[in-house]
Amino acid sequence: MLGRQFSVMAKKAFFLFGFCIFAIMVSVKAGASEKGIFIEYTVNIKEEEPDHIHIKTRIWPVPTAFLRLSMTQNYGQAKKLEEVIPEISVYGAGRKLSTIKKTSEFLWVIDLMKHDDIVIDYAVNTRYPFTSLNSVRLPYRDADHLYFPAASVFIHPDEKYLDDNNVKIRRIRVNFDLPKGWIAATSWGTGRSSYDLSPPSCENLNFGLIGAGHYRVYSFLRVYSLKDKALPIDIALLNPGPVPDEEIIRVVDQALSTGDNLFGFFPVPRLFALFHFIFDHPGQGSANALGWSVNLNYSRNPEAPDRLKEKAHIFHEIFHFWNGTEGGPISRAQSDHSLIWFTEGITRFYQYKNMLRSGVISEEKYFQYLSGEFSDVYVSARREDSLNKISVDYYSDPNAMALTYSKGCCLAFALDLLLRHSSAGRINFDAVMQKMLERYDFRLNRHCYSHEELNGVFREILENRFYPSYERLYGKDFVREFESILDLAGLQIEKRKGSRLYFGIIDFGPPSGPLKAFVLDRESPAYKAGLREEDVLLEINSLKVNDISDIKKALDGKDEGESVALVIERKGQIKKLLAPWASYATSFNIRRKNAKDLK
Ligand SMILES: [Zn+2]
Repeated sequence: MLGRQFSVMAKKAFFLFGFCIFAIMVSVKAGASEKGIFIEYTVNIKEEEPDHIHIKTRIWPVPTAFLRLSMTQNYGQAKKLEEVIPEISVYGAGRKLSTIKKTSEFLWVIDLMKHDDIVIDYAVNTRYPFTSLNSVRLPYRDADHLYFPAASVFIHPDEKYLDDNNVKIRRIRVNFDLPKGWIAATSWGTGRSSYDLSPPSCENLNFGLIGAGHYRVYSFLRVYSLKDKALPIDIALLNPGPVPDEEIIRVVDQALSTGDNLFGFFPVPRLFALFHFIFDHPGQGSANALGWSVNLNYSRNPEAPDRLKEKAHIFHEIFHFWNGTEGGPISRAQSDHSLIWFTEGITRFYQYKNMLRSGVISEEKYFQYLSGEFSDVYVSARREDSLNKISVDYYSDPNAMALTYSKGCCLAFALDLLLRHSSAGRINFDAVMQKMLERYDFRLNRHCYSHEELNGVFREILENRFYPSYERLYGKDFVREFESILDLAGLQIEKRKGSRLYFGIIDFGPPSGPLKAFVLDRESPAYKAGLREEDVLLEINSLKVNDISDIKKALDGKDEGESVALVIERKGQIKKLLAPWASYATSFNIRRKNAKDLK
């Protein structure tokens, strides 16, 4: 692959991020007899005013002297409440209440002066630069749509307070006051202007995802499992495109069914998925981990060569529901990222495996995908680092990020083969997943697996016989172990000469940045001569180079075996290097040793 491409990152990057909640603490006087409250939100979007979402929150009856509002939403770099909520007014019995006592950045105390029916009128800034690590903005708005997690905009009573004071929420109603032609698509349903949440709980509210805009289609999808369970899902499609809705729905159906066949249940408690088909927009990853909703990228162009890969995203994201690692427990706020390989690598493996199972791809294609994953590990300068190490560096090093997916995926694939081979087809990697579920039912506790727990499961499933294989695949002996397991399982992996590369550089980095060895083939002669990832190319044989055409000019008439003088910049230092310029990408092909199916 030649050219300045940034696609490796863009395609592989699916981000998780955590978010906390808004809460109001309502203080009830001792002996208050009223034990139930009603909450009603009205979301008002003004088409001509794209910067704000206006919300009116009414809470009644509030048998309290004052109301405490707190906000702990993870708004990336937000320093002040005002940056997120620029306007806030509180009314009691129709009159504006004067005092909002701010007690800290995201905490207020409001005097109620014995009003038991209060209205909080506020605006949420949708243009705040929510500069979380992946530059995702929440809420996200484009010309025709706005979408946001309910948790990021709704003020509500603190659950602990409610428990402590035995106060029940009797009803939570969400109303939409939208511009003409706009429609709301939410976790609680699509196409209506008012929802009564069932159950009326803060949890239900906070896991909600809301989209508002010119949605094209609402499809009511019913997926039937082997056990005759039905799963209704609302789907709202954005951005009209040439891919028929029926096809998208079919792929979702297939992805859900294969997951159900593996675990035997549907993991989507709210029976809702909102699909943002916003492939061209920067907010496409924004709702990736919002509660139990899902955001998918899907190429709307049926002629696109990568269309199958885009379909694979559907399988990938939906599998996160089943493996239980996406629904909140792992977030970037957490300091230990060492299990990201499990979250993403295993999910990538099941993305392919489930596509094979449901007939979306052939076995040949399946092997081709796995071969690609192996190639990515093989050429990586960090391939000998343990999965723990690369997972920890996931957010800081693009090579580690790519490797986290590929190495984790290959590990699962190899163990799947090994388990099937050693048990004569009785068990496979599904057993690992099922064991995780038995131990830590994420549907109940949304458990974030620890290293020890995961290790325990691998030890148990693999026993003493095969556990060392896991350790080798996990660490520096990955390549040798992978190849020998393939051999054992009746497969072979052929090394092939791929496309010609300049200096072994597979990816020159983002088009806007300098010309660099963004992804480098460590098998290349240039690598052996000392070129390293992140080196910036400045000159070839005294000719300055800024883009690929400059490289071609500088190498014009040079034989493939020739070395050239390179001037590079490495960590701010100028270095000179004599390096052979030509090489061929190392690619692999996994296939069966013989045609017959091996159990
Ligand atoms: Zn993922």
